[in-house]
Amino acid sequence: MGSTIMTPRPAEQNSVQKKKHYVVKVNSIDRLTHDVLRIDTEKPEDYTFLPGQATEVAIKKPGWANELRPFTFTNLSHDSHLEFIIKTYPSHKGMTNQLLDLKIGDKLILGRPFGAIKYSGEGIFIAGGAGITPFISILKDLERKQSLGQNRLIFANKTKADIILEEDFSKLLGPNVINILSEEKIAGYHHGLITKDFLLAHIKEFNSRFYLCGPPVMLTALLNLLHDLGVKDEFITREKMD
Ligand SMILES: Cc1cc2nc3c(=O)[nH]c(=O)nc-3n(C[C@H](O)[C@H](O)[C@H](O)COP(=O)(O)OP(=O)(O)OC[C@H]3O[C@@H](n4cnc5c(N)ncnc54)[C@H](O)[C@@H]3O)c2cc1C
Repeated sequence: MGSTIMTPRPAEQNSVQKKKHYVVKVNSIDRLTHDVLRIDTEKPEDYTFLPGQATEVAIKKPGWANELRPFTFTNLSHDSHLEFIIKTYPSHKGMTNQLLDLKIGDKLILGRPFGAIKYSGEGIFIAGGAGITPFISILKDLERKQSLGQNRLIFANKTKADIILEEDFSKLLGPNVINILSEEKIAGYHHGLITKDFLLAHIKEFNSRFYLCGPPVMLTALLNLLHDLGVKDEFITREKMD
């Protein structure tokens, strides 16, 4: 998934809006779960993004500056900093493994914001694991606008320990958040994969908007299920996240 960073041409150095990449310092790092980090960085002047958007990120250190990986902003554009929530994969021996050694004051290289997930009205959000990240900033934005309404979240994880920001979602959405765990049976949590029966049991109206984000296998399965249940593609917003 990596790509190469282009060196900015001199003309771009003066215009933040046109820059291809930005160097920011890490302000803080904390662990949200056993393998998920929350990284707070400086925000370049005039850098703006929409809730749900992502950017490419590399670590500014020898051997890693060209290893760009996409990550989603999990705060809001008007904040004075940037925030990312990142699941780490030590077994890949890739960039997210390097993030485990990141320290306050280290530097990251960011690209321009991009992304397919954009809020277009009340609906049902379905996330798998780190696929929750675009929905974090979208839901924060709706909360800020006091427009959470009847938006609902179905959040699929392997175990309870994998659930990112469980308490925050519970506070934000109350009964409108449904957790389902594929590898753990615990009272109060649904168990298994998301199936047609599960969707039928929890969703009354299929003429609703759906926002999907998760691993490719989950996304393909969900798309098939939703199509089966009569949901048209124009009501489905989706992003694949490995
Ligand atoms: C638009 C978008 C937004 C995203 N936003 C986020 C986000 O906000 N938070 C988040 O956590 N993730 C997000 N992701 C996913 C994130 O980009 C990947 O998890 C990340 O790129 C993984 O980087 P890596 O270097 O650790 O591993 P990779 O680049 O996946 O892999 C590095 C190397 O490891 C090996 N490898 C790959 N898969 C495996 C495997 N299963 N087992 C063993 N070895 C393997 C391969 O040799 C590969 O070259 C997003 C993805 C997209 C497309």
